[in-house]
Amino acid sequence: MKTIDQISFAGKKALIRVDFNVPLDKDYNITDDNRMTAALPTINKILKDGGAVILMSHLGRPKGGPEEKFSLKHVVPHLADLLGQQVQFADDCIGAEAVDKAKALGKGEVLLLENLRFYKEEEKGDMTFAEKLSKLGDIYVNDAFGTAHRAHASTAVIAQFFPNAKYFGYLMAAELENAEKVLNNPVKPFTAIMGGAKVSDKIELIERLLDKVDNLIIGGGMAYTFAKAQGGNIGKSLVEEDKLELALSLIQKAKEKRVNLLLPTDSIIADNFSNDANTDTAQNNSIKDGWMGLDIGPDSIAEFTKVVEASKTILWNGPMGVFEMEKFETGTKSIAEAVVKATENGAFSLIGGGDSAAAVAKFNFTDDVSYVSTGGGALLEYMEGKELPGVKAINE
Ligand code: AMP
Repeated sequence: MKTIDQISFAGKKALIRVDFNVPLDKDYNITDDNRMTAALPTINKILKDGGAVILMSHLGRPKGGPEEKFSLKHVVPHLADLLGQQVQFADDCIGAEAVDKAKALGKGEVLLLENLRFYKEEEKGDMTFAEKLSKLGDIYVNDAFGTAHRAHASTAVIAQFFPNAKYFGYLMAAELENAEKVLNNPVKPFTAIMGGAKVSDKIELIERLLDKVDNLIIGGGMAYTFAKAQGGNIGKSLVEEDKLELALSLIQKAKEKRVNLLLPTDSIIADNFSNDANTDTAQNNSIKDGWMGLDIGPDSIAEFTKVVEASKTILWNGPMGVFEMEKFETGTKSIAEAVVKATENGAFSLIGGGDSAAAVAKFNFTDDVSYVSTGGGALLEYMEGKELPGVKAINE
């Protein structure tokens, strides 16, 4: 793997694609800085070598032009605090100001460029735009795992302008190593926990995992598609009507491959999608009309916990219920506790990014699991066996 450990950055300008797509509140305070702290080891190594650092990132989903609420200038003060030094900012990621500031940047100095997605060329993977960006630095470093599954100008296309000077940052390297640990030669028993809203988002991963895991736990909204496919009454729980056949075929495949497939047997049900709803407990196959399952129930928690605690490798992607609401957080929290316990007993636990990472953070377990990925979609695609454009661009 081509990592930044292989070179010295002394006297060089490193152009680093980071993922500073952090959540901001209405006063532009950063509510979760994980993605920023995750990039610090790479930035610090380059500065320590005697290099200069030019950071580029996207933030939010601007419509293709500058928007105040998506300006990366809002993250400058916090980045300066994290690095313990001044951070310069260029109001545009290309153009004269960016070029001049990059040129004038001295050893040990840091420059952050304005949001790449203020140009629609970024997401289009435009070659000319990528070439303009490439002129700003001597060495290209990709440390943005969260966008590695996108063939954007700054994440993939740009790499061709650095044929002999492109590297993975430490975060990218760690993400890939941890994903590989789970995919190749996992210590058995290997348990995958899948949850979240939809089966359709995770179908490819589930199919691939059936060749690898000993246990496959399915919870969250997607479990009701399985319950309905098996003839259950699921009230108005989340369901993907066009995936009922698929659910049955997955159950069949799990049997053929001797994978222990665990579906929830009971649920916490609600008469409304709200934390103020009336709630009850029900068997998954007999949910009252007009009610919906919003969390796994106590029997399912007990069953899942037993399996998770006895596992030696765990991959978790997707919450067990609507963990954002207190009334429906117990399932996700209990499974998180089981993952922590298994980790204490020597298991390797990888938590997929996105909502699973948010859930683990909500319950303060981030430091008690083996690795929390910063990639949601990127991790899913990597696990599905797809080549990520951001990874391929550095490797080729
Ligand atoms: P995903 O992005 O597919 O991992 O889905 C995560 C979302 O699924 C979270 O916001 C959860 O609130 C939601 N979710 C989990 N369980 C359920 C459920 N039983 N019904 C509706 N939404 C759910």
